[in-house]
Formats: sequence, C-alpha cells, structure tokens
Amino acid sequence: MSVTHPLLPQGLPHETKCYVCIGVFDGIRPVLYVARPDGDWCALCGDEHPDDAGVYRVVGIGHVIDRDPSVSEVLDLGPNEEAERSALGEQWARSSF
Ligand SMILES: [Zn+2]
Repeated sequence: MSVTHPLLPQGLPHETKCYVCIGVFDGIRPVLYVARPDGDWCALCGDEHPDDAGVYRVVGIGHVIDRDPSVSEVLDLGPNEEAERSALGEQWARSSF
C-alpha cells in the first residue's frame, strides 16, 4: 500500500526507507545533511556519529518531510549525491561523492 504525499516527488513513496540519526529521530536535531550512498536515503543532523548501527533508525522518508518540509527541496538527489546546509532555512549545498 502506498500513500501519496504532496511534497514527495513522483516515484518516491512515503514509506521509502530513510536512515536518520537518533538526534533527528528524537526531534532534537534538525536535518542538515541528506545523502544517498548507494541510492539509499540518509537524513542526518550533520554531526559526526560513531560507526554504530545503534546511532541510526530507519523511518519512511515521508515522515522526515512531515516533520521538516524543507527537506523536500533535496529529494531530487541522485545516487551518490549529497546536500548540506549550515542551519534550518539556509541554502543546501549539493555535491557528489
Ligand atoms: Zn545526528
């Protein structure tokens, strides 16, 4: 079952798997870094994280957008692209890796 969401591009279902760090998951930290390693979606706070699965959670990407609609500005990223911003409301800086 898929749910359509007005802020999600076509072909990106609401429940598309997205990794978030616990700071983002808990709503303590804003999403300042979005990356697509190997085509996966990661929406992180931009801080360093230990290399530990316990630091991450998996959510539907639609939930990330529900909480912070400005993240939808970078949902056109392709695989192995990333976008960073210094704070909420700032411009995203895109690059490839
Ligand atoms: Zn984080």
